[in-house]
Amino acid sequence: MIYLDNAATTRPCAEAVAAVTDTMQSCFGNASSLHRLGLNSEKVISSARKTLLAKLGEGEIYFTSGATESNNTAIFGAVETYRRNGDKIVTTAMEHPAAANPIAKLEERGMRVVRLSPKDHEDFEQAVADAVDDRTLLVSCMAVNNETGYAVDVKRLYRLVKRKNEKTIVHIDAVQGFLKVPLDGDFISISGHKIHGPKGIGALYVKKGVRFAPLLLGGGQQKKLRSGTEPVELIAGLEAAVKNYRGKTERFSQLKSHLVSALSELDGIKFNSTDKCVPNIVNFSIKGVRSEIMLHSLEQQEIYVSSGSACSKGKTSGVLAAFGVPDSDADSAIRVSMCADTTEEELDILVDNIRKGIERFRR
Ligand code: PLP
Repeated sequence: MIYLDNAATTRPCAEAVAAVTDTMQSCFGNASSLHRLGLNSEKVISSARKTLLAKLGEGEIYFTSGATESNNTAIFGAVETYRRNGDKIVTTAMEHPAAANPIAKLEERGMRVVRLSPKDHEDFEQAVADAVDDRTLLVSCMAVNNETGYAVDVKRLYRLVKRKNEKTIVHIDAVQGFLKVPLDGDFISISGHKIHGPKGIGALYVKKGVRFAPLLLGGGQQKKLRSGTEPVELIAGLEAAVKNYRGKTERFSQLKSHLVSALSELDGIKFNSTDKCVPNIVNFSIKGVRSEIMLHSLEQQEIYVSSGSACSKGKTSGVLAAFGVPDSDADSAIRVSMCADTTEEELDILVDNIRKGIERFRR
């Protein structure tokens, strides 16, 4: 099997699997229990919090069911808390539905929303900051786009937005950027299963001094801000994944140049990922061959890639339009997303099979 769909999800690393199973067996106490078993579970959670804070900065960590919940918590929670600061949200046209849909819901409820596309701005971070005014309550911008790998310099974005309006809250969906690019934000969303950890666990980082109203009401766990018994085993798995993450930008860059030069030998390949993209994601269109046809033909050889975003279940990606990709090219877009275990040999086999697919299917 050649697995090249790591932006959709990753294979859990051995350390994460061991942490989940060991913790399930040896540490099953409810972290809220006052006895020793509860304390043992609480220790696992505190250790994971420390590990995440060491990567993200000074603040708090709330464990969630994944980045969808982290995004919803940050967006709805910030708007409820800071409503008096304004009625405008600045966001992008490339957001994942896990951020785009909560924002659309707030728009239905009367918030004004400005959506910027990377295709329209040479200096995207500056463009986002320029759209911020004294009525802007929230900026929500992803760190790395899941379909093309387009990377926003979110540290610079944070600085520029705060310079324009220090009261504006900045939320970063860092699902594809965490452990890969430098991050900053008042809220940062991350997800376990994109970094070789378990599914169903994510976290929301909240910068020191930033507040939010909880999404879930219940038993008052996690400082009353995220109710629900903490899944200690998944939290342990997430921590193990973070500690053992092996992806390296330099290695991904080598793999990307190998892939790009091999693909460039084929006729009718157009790259949708540019130099502004992280090197572990390469999105390209194959003229005259629909994505789904190519995807399933590769699947028969046990090569797994994606057409656009896996979360959009094979629908033509509206997000590619934000990068200026015409519909006809979006229809034939393939996303290859790599991990630390990806090899040049695997990429050669992929390209060879794409060549065969083009010969068979090109219209
Ligand atoms: N945000 C981005 C950029 C993503 O790529 C994804 C998943 O594909 C999500 C959010 C949703 O994350 P989760 O599956 O943890 O809810």
